[in-house]
Amino acid sequence: MIDQRESVSGAHFAFTDRWGGVSAAPYEQLNLGGAVGDDPAAVLANRKRAAAGLGLDAGRVVWMNQVHGADVAEVDGPWGDGTAIPSVDALVTARDGLALAVLTADCVPVLLADPVAGVAAAAHAGRPGMVAGVVPAAVKAMTDRGADPSRIVARTGPSVCGRCYEVPERMRAEVAAVEPAAYAETSWGTPAVDVAAGVHAQLERLGVRDVGRSPVCTMESPDHFSYRRDRATGRLAGYVWLD
Ligand SMILES: [Zn+2]
Repeated sequence: MIDQRESVSGAHFAFTDRWGGVSAAPYEQLNLGGAVGDDPAAVLANRKRAAAGLGLDAGRVVWMNQVHGADVAEVDGPWGDGTAIPSVDALVTARDGLALAVLTADCVPVLLADPVAGVAAAAHAGRPGMVAGVVPAAVKAMTDRGADPSRIVARTGPSVCGRCYEVPERMRAEVAAVEPAAYAETSWGTPAVDVAAGVHAQLERLGVRDVGRSPVCTMESPDHFSYRRDRATGRLAGYVWLD
């Protein structure tokens, strides 16, 4: 259920895998995405299970409507009933005990926290979002609220690796023109993009030093959801919160 979990000075980072939930194929088992065609009751049950597994109240987990952009929303509590969930790809909060969640199935989930300033952010960085600068936007939203890049702890979760993410030559060139570190080649010798490498290059340029990158490639791992591998599939989640 929990693929990876870490705590640093009162900031908590966690990523799920696909097991331990109630969803049926092709979303088996722990699908946490509400917009992929799965039974909403199963998604709700899975979100409760995952939250309980992390010692969180599921009602204090904030999700976003991800659209592959670079907009950031500030949040200081759960979305109210009837509130439209904002279409953004990053959330930032200065509220203790409020968990920010990001959904992925190959894209890079990025979790950020400055435990000293008490500011956390979660970002969804697929290829378009990485190119659009969602990670720098999230870091800026944090520094606007008192965070210092030198204190930010950054963790990226399971995502498709640069040796699996095949793209047309022209697309690789377009991405590499914006972020050279994302230039990659598949294990079979064709053009590819390494989105996580791009994210980490961006973090380094911003002065974020305490970084960690998941070794898991979602496309290669049977324990993780992969959109590029399976198309109809579930979503993994990354969670960040402060004590
Ligand atoms: Zn791979």
